[in-house]
Amino acid sequence: MKAEILSIGTELLMGELTDTNGSWIATQLPPLGIQLQGISIVGDDLPALAEAFSRGLQRSDFIFTTGGLGPTQDDLTREAVAAALGETPTVQREVVENLERYFAGRGMTMPAHNIKQAHLIPSAQFVRNRNGTAPGWWVESDGKVIVCMPGPPGEMQPIWHEEVAPRLRELVEDEVTITRNIKTLGMSEAAIDEEISEFFGHENPYLGIYSKADGIHLRIIARAGDEQVAREMITPVEAAITERLGAYIWGYDSDTPEQAAGQALSEFGLTLATMESCSGGFLANSVTDIPDSARYYKGGVIAVNSEMLLASGVPPLVLEKYGLVSPETAMAMAHAARNGMAADYGVAINGVIGPAPIEDQPVGQVYVAIAGRKETRELQFRTPPRRIVIKRRVANTALTELRKLVVLENGD
Ligand code: ATP
Ligand code: MG
Repeated sequence: MKAEILSIGTELLMGELTDTNGSWIATQLPPLGIQLQGISIVGDDLPALAEAFSRGLQRSDFIFTTGGLGPTQDDLTREAVAAALGETPTVQREVVENLERYFAGRGMTMPAHNIKQAHLIPSAQFVRNRNGTAPGWWVESDGKVIVCMPGPPGEMQPIWHEEVAPRLRELVEDEVTITRNIKTLGMSEAAIDEEISEFFGHENPYLGIYSKADGIHLRIIARAGDEQVAREMITPVEAAITERLGAYIWGYDSDTPEQAAGQALSEFGLTLATMESCSGGFLANSVTDIPDSARYYKGGVIAVNSEMLLASGVPPLVLEKYGLVSPETAMAMAHAARNGMAADYGVAINGVIGPAPIEDQPVGQVYVAIAGRKETRELQFRTPPRRIVIKRRVANTALTELRKLVVLENGD
C-alpha cells in the first residue's frame, strides 16, 4: 500500500513554519506496512490543492493531510477534496450543534465562519477531534482513502492515535513492518560498518546506519506477513550486532542518554551531582528532562571561571597547575560535585566552547570526568566547533558514559 502526505499551509511554503507533521506521520507508517512515497507542501490555494489531491489519487492508495481545516477563508482543504472528487459539500446539522455546544462551554457564541467545519461531502465521514473545533475528514472513493487532519500537532497526533491508526490497521493488516533501533556511542561509523558489514545491503531485513547527536544508530527493519515472523527476522541480526558492538551499545528504540542514565541510577537507588563549565547547564537540563529525576539528581553547578570553580570546591592547586580546561580540572570538578553534594556519582564537563581558544586549546576540545563509587572515568575528544553541537555531544557522551559506569559498578 502506497501513501503520500500533503502538508497544507502557505506558512509552510514561506518557510515560516517547519513541517513537523509530515515527518511525524512518516514515522507512524512503517509499522502499519504502508509505504510512503513522498511528502509535499502545498499552499492555501484552491486550484493548487485540488490538483495535488487529483495527482495523489492517481498514484497513491492513501493521502494524509494536515492543516487547512480551520474556519477561516484560507482554510481550503475540505473545498479542495470536494473539487478533486467532484462532490458538493453540505452542512451537517448535528455538527453545527456540537460546535455551538463547544463554544457555549467556553462562554462564547459560535462565530458564523465556523459553520465551514460542519461541511461534509457524500464520500467523507467526520473524524472526531477531542482537542479542537475542526473535525477531521475520512474520505473513501474508488478504493482510495484521503485522511484530512487539523494542523496543530496537539490535535493531529491524538486524532491519529485514537481514530486514524486503528482504522488503518484494519485496512492494511496483510503486512507489518517492525523496526529495532540500536544506539551506540564511541565507535566511528566506519568501524561499525566494518564490524557488521555482512548485514548491510539486504532488502529484508534491512539494516541502516545513521549518525546522530547521541552517537551512531543502527536500524533493523523487517517486513513480513505477521509480527511474529518479522520479529524472528530481526532477532539474529540484533544478536550479532549486540555481540560485536557490546559495550558501545547504550540503548534501544526510543531510549535517550538521559533516560538510560536515569534508569540505571534509579534501578540501583543511586544519586548524581554535576558540575559543568562549557556546556552551560546543558547536562543539568538533559538530566532534568526526565520526570522524577529529582529522585536521583541532587543538583548541578555551572562554573565558567576559576572564581566559581574555587567556590564550588575545586582545589586552588589543581587550577594553578592544570588551568581552567584540562582533564585534571574536570576530574577535580567531578570529585567536588560528588563530595559537595554527597552524591554517589559526580559528573563534570569542561572544554572550549568558543569563539576563542582557551589556554591554547581549540574550540570544540572537551573533557568529561566521572567520579564513581569505586572508579573514575575520563574522556577527552574534539567536537565540531559549533556551540550547540559541542553542548549536545559532550552532555550526551557524559550521560552514556555515566550509565556504563553505573551498570559496571553495580550490576551483577
Ligand atoms: P486551525 O483550526 O488551528 O486553523 P488548521 O487545520 O486550519 O487548524 P492550519 O491553520 O493550517 O491548521 O495550522 C494551524 C497551526 O497548526 C499552525 O499555525 C501551526 O502551528 C500548526 N501546523 C500546521 N501545519 C503544520 C505542520 N505541517 N507541521 C507542524 N505544525 C503545523
Ligand atoms: Mg487554520
